[in-house]
Amino acid sequence: MHKEQLIQLIKNEHITMVINDLIPYEPIHISIKKNFDTACWSFNEKSNKHSIYVGDKILEKVVKKGKKGIEYYATSYLHHEMSHALHTLRDLKFVNEWLNKEKIPFNLFNLFEDARIEYLWRVKADRLFNWADYEELPEISEDSNATNLLFVYIQKEGKIRSDIEKMKRVREYYSEILKCSETIELFPILKRWIEEFPETKEDLEQLAKDGYLSKDGDLATTVELQSSESSAEKMDEDSEDVIGKSPYKDEDKDIDLVEELTEIEYDFSTKYHESIFDEYNSYEVDKSKATKLIPVMQKIFKEKKKKISQSNATNRINTKNFLNSRYDKLYKKKVVETKGKKKINLMIDCSGSMGGAPIKNARTFCYIINEFAKKSYLEGYLILTGGDSSRHQCMTIKFPLKSNDIEHIIANSGAECLKGTIDMTYKLIKESDWTFVMTDGNITDNAINTKGLPLFGMYVGDPESCNLSKWFNKYIARESLEELIQVLINKL
Ligand SMILES: [Zn+2]
Repeated sequence: MHKEQLIQLIKNEHITMVINDLIPYEPIHISIKKNFDTACWSFNEKSNKHSIYVGDKILEKVVKKGKKGIEYYATSYLHHEMSHALHTLRDLKFVNEWLNKEKIPFNLFNLFEDARIEYLWRVKADRLFNWADYEELPEISEDSNATNLLFVYIQKEGKIRSDIEKMKRVREYYSEILKCSETIELFPILKRWIEEFPETKEDLEQLAKDGYLSKDGDLATTVELQSSESSAEKMDEDSEDVIGKSPYKDEDKDIDLVEELTEIEYDFSTKYHESIFDEYNSYEVDKSKATKLIPVMQKIFKEKKKKISQSNATNRINTKNFLNSRYDKLYKKKVVETKGKKKINLMIDCSGSMGGAPIKNARTFCYIINEFAKKSYLEGYLILTGGDSSRHQCMTIKFPLKSNDIEHIIANSGAECLKGTIDMTYKLIKESDWTFVMTDGNITDNAINTKGLPLFGMYVGDPESCNLSKWFNKYIARESLEELIQVLINKL
């Protein structure tokens, strides 16, 4: 296969993956690596980007003409690495340290993790890898060691009938591996395996010597790339970009710098804020609930991003142009741009009547908003309001917040002092697309005019116990945060 063919194959397969929603949330860079007989994936924490390298020598292990043709085999590598990008724990340095401490061979972990992510991919993409149709596998018999049996079992994707006694045990391990939804859940299973089969290290080495297994495994390369920037740069040296740009290219770094310099941060905080922000104690944020609601809330941002279409390959595809064969404008460029960002503020009423569940839900909602800010979907401020009849308290912090800031939001104020806060933060509110105000609407100050501003009243709790219609043109009150977000995405 020529390199040009491989490039085209990767581009086509990438289009299919984008259309079928099989790629991660973050940008991906895919390139072809010279003189490399496998593929690998790495996540770059600093640039928040995935890289996938497909070797130009990936066909070297092929010994059989598979049923589906050689293109199918070649793209299986991309599918395998894409599944790592979606499902493998990103901090592989951490995994490596743990394995070293426990004296578990890295290759065994790689084998387990490959089995796990390939299973997840088979379910999600409805596609088999069919490695065994192309590659040679070791012969297995009653005398085979457990590692060889496991390797064959994984390569055959569990489709194997065998009366070998030891195979029963291997099958049990395999089905345990498939039950793990996270990489880290493999740890106890790895420990048990190595206790039961202490000879695994030698057996893996033999498999590598016999050419069945690549010596280090694809994830060992990931550890290396994450451990030193110079090896990552070296990796890029004789690689050719197919989709996106390498995270190590200088241009990307320059763009970040410019954005940082032009940012202005407003601070409208009052001197005292002990009844709205408790800097000494932390309070509960329901992160697991928030994590479940983030994909739901995502809909708000989906269609409203800025789209530029072009022919240079990027990570997103203009499906309309694709269907109309407009290949000159096939790829969408940089989907989230500063101009396309939503300006959203979150104002939280920190008066005592918000105590208990309402303030806890407000913290959870704040966590969700903050996650979108971290991913550049929105910009805006958290605005806390409270105080009492003698002293107004207000605090503004620009999103994204430090995540533990959220845990310090409290509702210990005698009054909400909404008027004072709206006057003070008028500029932020006026310039926002929306300022969500989490309040129960028990507002004591009758003089405020809220209706000419882009304010959106919200309350999580008994809708009967709040009074939002009096203050807001747009408002939602629901018993749970789940229901509230569901209604919110339809209203915006
Ligand atoms: Zn792998």
